[in-house]
Order: sequence, then C-alpha cells, then structure tokens
Amino acid sequence: MSGKKKPSAKLFIQEIDDLGWSLGRDLGEGAFGKVKLVSRKSDSQQAACKIMAKPKDMKKMKVIQLEYKIMKEMDHEYIVKCFEAKETEANVYLFLELCSGGELFDKIVEMGHFTESMAGQLSYNMLSALNYMHGLGIIHRDLKPENMLIANKGGDFTNVKLTDFGLSKMLDEESKLMKTPVGTPGYVAPEVLALKDGGYDNKVDVWSMGVIIYILLCGFPPFYADNDAQLFAKIKAGDFKFIAPFWDPISKTAKEFIVKMLTVDPKKRATIDELLAHAWLASAAAKAAPPKEAEHELCTSEEYKLKETQAKLAAQFIHLKDTVLVVNKAKNRFLNLIGKAPPADHTGSATTTVGGGDDPAMVEVQINNEEKVDGGGCKCVVS
Ligand code: ADP
Ligand code: MG
Repeated sequence: MSGKKKPSAKLFIQEIDDLGWSLGRDLGEGAFGKVKLVSRKSDSQQAACKIMAKPKDMKKMKVIQLEYKIMKEMDHEYIVKCFEAKETEANVYLFLELCSGGELFDKIVEMGHFTESMAGQLSYNMLSALNYMHGLGIIHRDLKPENMLIANKGGDFTNVKLTDFGLSKMLDEESKLMKTPVGTPGYVAPEVLALKDGGYDNKVDVWSMGVIIYILLCGFPPFYADNDAQLFAKIKAGDFKFIAPFWDPISKTAKEFIVKMLTVDPKKRATIDELLAHAWLASAAAKAAPPKEAEHELCTSEEYKLKETQAKLAAQFIHLKDTVLVVNKAKNRFLNLIGKAPPADHTGSATTTVGGGDDPAMVEVQINNEEKVDGGGCKCVVS
C-alpha cells in the first residue's frame, strides 16, 4: 500500500514505550512503514512490530484492519503469528512473531541458489501453509521471497514463515472470484494481468509459488524483460525456459513440478493437493544435500562467460526487489500495460476505480524507482 505517509519516529518511539515495549533495531522496511524489533518490558518477550501510519481514508484503514484480522485468524507453523494490534491516533502497531533469520530473498542472494533437497523442503513447508490458508478462504496475492522470513538466525533456513498479508483477501460465500489486479510484477499470475472470465481465485498463489521455486533452484527468475510491457506479455504467454547449462543438473521431476505450477490456464494449473503428493517433494525431502563444491579462483574463458551470464541472470532476481514509491501517473501506465487503459483525459486520481475491482480501497501503483520506470519492477495495487 501507500508509502506516502510514514510514521513519525519521535512519536512511535514514545507510543511503543507507552504500550509497554522497548524498541530495538530495524528489522525491515516495506511499503507501509517500518518493522522494528521490540521487547516486552514485563517479561522480555521479543516480537517484530510493524508500524503503520494510520490512513485518514477509512477504506485504506479497512485494508490494515483486514491484514490484522487475517493474521489473527491463522495458526500455522509456517505462517507468522500476530499477537496483538494496537491503534493510537496516528499509528497502527502489529506485534508479530519474530523471525530472526531475515528474508528468504537475502538468503537466495547469499547462496546463489538452493539444492533440490533444500528447495523441496522449503516448498513443502510453504505449500502446506498455503493449503491451510486457502482452506480458510484466505488468498495471499503477494507471495515473494521478501515476504517469506527465516524463523531463526543461523538455523534451518527451510524453516520459513509466510508474512505480509497486506494484499490478502478473505473470500466469503458471495465473492469467490477477485478482480483487482494486485501483486508484484515478476511473481504475478497471468490471469491477474488478463482479468478475463470474471476474475481470479487462489490459483494465483500457486503461480507465484512456482516462480519462487524456479528462483530457488537456479537463482534467477523465469520471467524477465527489459520493460514491464514485455514482462507482462511473457507472463501471459507462459513464456519461460529451463536455461542451459544452469538447469542441466536439476532433475526432470523438479522441472515437471514447476511446469505444473507455471501453467497459464488456472484450471489446468496443479492444485496444492496434487503438488504436495508429487514425486519431487518426496524425492527432494529424501535426498541428502550434496556438499557444495569449492569455487575455483581461476576459470577458463568458457567458465568465465558462464559465470558472467549467471551473474546477469541473478541480477534480474535482485531487480525484482521492490522499494516502493507511489506515483499516480504510473497507475495509468500499469493499466495500459495490462490492457485496461483509462480514458485519455484521465488524470490518475487516487479515487478512480477501473475494471470493477474487488478492493475499492486499493488505488495506488507503487513503482520501484521513479527514474527506472521503464525497466524497473513495480508493485502494482490498482483497482
Ligand atoms: P510491507 O507490507 O510493507 O512489505 P512486511 O510485512 O512485508 O511489510 O514487512 C517488511 C519487512 O520487514 C519484511 O520484508 C521483513 O524484512 C521485515 N519483517 C516483517 N515482519 C517481520 C517479522 N515478523 N520478523 C522479522 N522481520 C520482519
Ligand atoms: Mg512485504
């Protein structure tokens, strides 16, 4: 959501203290505001505190309340728990289960890629979490390695927990399909971009998870392009490859698994139950992680070229990381890209609703970097 209004540090330091917690270091920063390490003064219980400036707009406030409601409802080993939420005149505070191991994103960057065994274990854990929340009618809609946190520092990094339910949706009996194009380019499902057949459902999470598993195994994303228009065209066409030689050592079963997830037609895309029963997860879990070979200092020119290509591909993954800026003009650009162009005289006002979105409160498009609009990744929240 909007990064326009940031909570004032002076105020939240005082308010957190008044709420009975001591403030620690920064844990992260997202579109909404800051996440800080906190410790309860009464019993030294540590937590992560997500601090969000309270929006004046009631609809935006409802989005924050929904994030809390959704997190409070869930109780799963691989989903971050929310202990409590507090509201002051200026801010909203979510006190969350602390994950001290950092973002999965940084772990992938550090390791280059995971072994099949590690990726399989992590995928199994994440798919179990998705199965659980989908069973409750909750759809995440913004799955990406920044929103998957490693439970313990220096611990098993397949023990990852899902967080950031700020774009999530809770479906009720009446709303089985969603219409608002939300998500992060690179991870967004084709049906969100195409928005045909009346909307999309929880299969969008299966697609995004497929993108993540692809990245886990090779360190670069399946869909990348010089600009968002090309990126979205590739996603809509399901145009990706298992690029040689990086994918050569990876099993056929793993590739089949990914193809089942990155299937453009959501009706033909695998269900989570099918994926949990798939041979890759059984074999990935059983296979011991092969020891990592020492890197050679000197390379032949052929090896050098390969390393260079690999570095360029990995840079595409790093590029997907979104630091968010809100640019109203960009909303029109996004709508154009996904073929939902507003009228020519449209000013991109923050109250416009396009395409009958299901979340009237979500009206911003968030762009990675204003200078890099054409080539940059953008996190899109448009209705
Ligand atoms: P946003 O909606 O702004 O993206 P997130 O909930 O994803 O907010 O939090 C932003 C970042 O803060 C995360 O990517 C992560 O680095 C850090 N963070 C969030 N929750 C926790 C937590 N429970 N434990 C540790 N770090 C966290
Ligand atoms: Mg986030």
